[in-house]
Amino acid sequence: MIDFRELADKYKTPLYVYDLDYMTERYNELKESFKARKSILCYAVKANSNLSIVRHFAKMGSGADCVSIGEVRRAFLAGIPSYKIIFSGVGKSDDEIREAIEKDILYINVESEAELGRVELIAKELNKVSRISIRVNPNIDPKTHPYISTGLHDNKFGVDITTAKRMYIKANNSEFLDPVGIHFHIGSQLTELKPIYESAEIVSDLVRSLVHINIELKFFDVGGGLGVTYKDEKTIPTYEYTQAILGTLKGLDLTVICEPGRFLTANAGYFVTKVLYEKQNGEKKFVVVDGAMNDLLRPALYGAYHKIEAVTNNKTDKRKVDIVGPVCESGDFFAKDYDLVELNHNDLLVIHSAGAYGFGMGSNYNTRGRSAEVAISNGKSKLIRKRETFEDLVANELEFME
Ligand SMILES: *Cc1c(COP(=O)(O)O)cnc(C)c1O
Repeated sequence: MIDFRELADKYKTPLYVYDLDYMTERYNELKESFKARKSILCYAVKANSNLSIVRHFAKMGSGADCVSIGEVRRAFLAGIPSYKIIFSGVGKSDDEIREAIEKDILYINVESEAELGRVELIAKELNKVSRISIRVNPNIDPKTHPYISTGLHDNKFGVDITTAKRMYIKANNSEFLDPVGIHFHIGSQLTELKPIYESAEIVSDLVRSLVHINIELKFFDVGGGLGVTYKDEKTIPTYEYTQAILGTLKGLDLTVICEPGRFLTANAGYFVTKVLYEKQNGEKKFVVVDGAMNDLLRPALYGAYHKIEAVTNNKTDKRKVDIVGPVCESGDFFAKDYDLVELNHNDLLVIHSAGAYGFGMGSNYNTRGRSAEVAISNGKSKLIRKRETFEDLVANELEFME
């Protein structure tokens, strides 16, 4: 049991709390289930990019999947070795590509023919060979929220099978490119195995057809996307997930790369916010809290459900309330028509499953400083990011002078 009252007294609210021991368990569980093959788990840094979190995974031997050069730098700063760092993303700038090649990371995940051309040109300028992988879009419906679905032809990610094959041939013929991997990532919060299995089959068939033309890859990168339970979702058992994927690789000698984000951190994190007051507008009861959409955007962005627990001495009956923040947007809510007991000023609400895509999607909208972040392990707590001050918020702003 985490003593949220004590943490809130010590670090103030709104506050993010991350349970490192839970992250360790999840990492070990996934790593273990891949043990029939050589594998590298490359933690998807964007899920929770706090350096202490990335460092925690680094210590367990994790690599990093990065989607900007900033994240690549974070991974290095956290002590992840270059040969376990991957750079993905649909729009990398020339400067980002250059730095990734200079830093000699494991590979760049290329997402278009145009990008392959840029990577080749920049590698040539640097007189280096760039290791690449190609993100294949298997055109499979992952059955998840459209905003986090990435594996259908009508979204912006990756290239189709035919294009991918042409790109592998081009890369193989270039003295500045070394095609070492293949990658797919069909979406996030996946709770069905079939789309993953079907994608893995399509992609491994492509790997086999490449072997026939003497293009031998080393890495089979299955992306991330493993779903977690926010409310009552049934998730894919880890072992079934890995067995389904490994089953498609018969006869191929490949190292499997997996890029979990949410799976490792979502349910390790809590967002703690304080009740300011309750108010009644017409039929509606609102609980106004000190945290807001600028701290935790998922409800506003996706209509995402988060379990919310009240830390209060009130044991009265539950009523239906909307839990809202102070930001001037009707979208600024954490839950609607949620069953909660009556609350007093300074009672706490603990919002669960906030460890992934929580703090990282935060902003300073309404000139609100972002929350503090605290990690806990073995009954100890430690501040891992200071609360932002007003001075932090205005530090980069310059005066316009005639
Ligand atoms: C976001 C992302 C991930 C992680 O997704 P989760 O759903 O958090 O596991 C992995 N790989 C790529 C390329 C991504 O963009």
